[in-house]
Amino acid sequence: MIYLDNSATTRPAPEVVQAITQVLTEDFGNPSALYRVGLDAEKILKSARGEVAKSLESKPAEITFTSCGTESNNTVLRGVWKSRNRQGKRIITTSVEHPAILRVCEDLEREGADVVYLPVNTDGTFNMDAFDAALNEDTILVSVMYVNNESGAIMPIKELSAKVHALGNGCLMHTDAVQAYGKLSCSVKELGVDFLSLSGHKVSGPKGVGALYIKGGLHIPSFILGGGQEAAFRSGTENMPGIAGLGAAAKLLNANWKNNAAKMFEVRAYLRERILAEIPDVKVNSPENGAPSVLNVSFIGCRAEVLLHQLEGDEIYISTGSACSSKKKGSHVLTAMHLRPEEIEGAIRFSFCAGNTKEQMDTVVEKLKLYTSSQRRLRKAFHK
Ligand code: PLP
Repeated sequence: MIYLDNSATTRPAPEVVQAITQVLTEDFGNPSALYRVGLDAEKILKSARGEVAKSLESKPAEITFTSCGTESNNTVLRGVWKSRNRQGKRIITTSVEHPAILRVCEDLEREGADVVYLPVNTDGTFNMDAFDAALNEDTILVSVMYVNNESGAIMPIKELSAKVHALGNGCLMHTDAVQAYGKLSCSVKELGVDFLSLSGHKVSGPKGVGALYIKGGLHIPSFILGGGQEAAFRSGTENMPGIAGLGAAAKLLNANWKNNAAKMFEVRAYLRERILAEIPDVKVNSPENGAPSVLNVSFIGCRAEVLLHQLEGDEIYISTGSACSSKKKGSHVLTAMHLRPEEIEGAIRFSFCAGNTKEQMDTVVEKLKLYTSSQRRLRKAFHK
């Protein structure tokens, strides 16, 4: 199997599986319990929080475990809106965010929020002029993703945080770092953000667990009330298998992320070069200096969905867009980048993990050559 859909989800690392198995079999106690089995579980919870905090250069108390990246994003947007909508109505985001931001923004618009969806440049990168024009005294929150899940474009979060805080009106900065975590430095000290969302299953951790960094001293309302877990911010008995798994994944990242990112970068560059050199009528949609994990390419004159299934026959797994939107028509990200309809129709996203190799890319390129030329020939014959 050649798995190139790591932006959709990743295979859990053996250390992650082991950590999950441990809490399902041995350390199964409730971390709130006062006896030994509970205290052992609490230690695992504390250690996982410590590893996630280390990976962000934050304090453990600034980390809340959630059920996923989607929940982390929802919590920030709804929380800031609920607590600050008397100070201002404007929320600035981009038109290429994940639906876990866009759908919430649309909902907040119905509650009176003045949401600005910034356009992006044609290579998917951030449009700073549009941002400068939108940022005003009425702005209470800026929420911009760190890495786009379809194009791999990297957004200038550090620069945005500086501008947001220079406003001096208490405006807050959030980044959805789900696709950046483990690929770029996610030090909250460096980035200067107030909130950061991440997800376990994109970094060889399990599905159904995420984390939210909230800068110390900031308060937003809780939406899940109950027994007071997670410092009374997010109640519910802790998802210990998920948290232990995310902790193990964060520990691996703390030791290896730079090496992993360098490996992905090399494989991505190799695939990009071979595709450009050997397959006609292609357009690389990812910026050259994008994230090491994503390469988006349009094979013009081909239907990406057909290529996906042909490659699937060879146990090569790719994506035609983000996993959440791939069943719907037309990617909103590629549309926002002003790609032509035939470029969107033929767009494939390859997304990498550190385990991918150049030899795998050789196989992928050979298969792509075969399938793109046969599909183009067939379509031409059909249209004659
Ligand atoms: N944000 C981005 C940029 C994503 O790519 C994803 C998942 O694809 C999410 C948020 C949602 O994360 P989760 O699947 O943990 O809810």
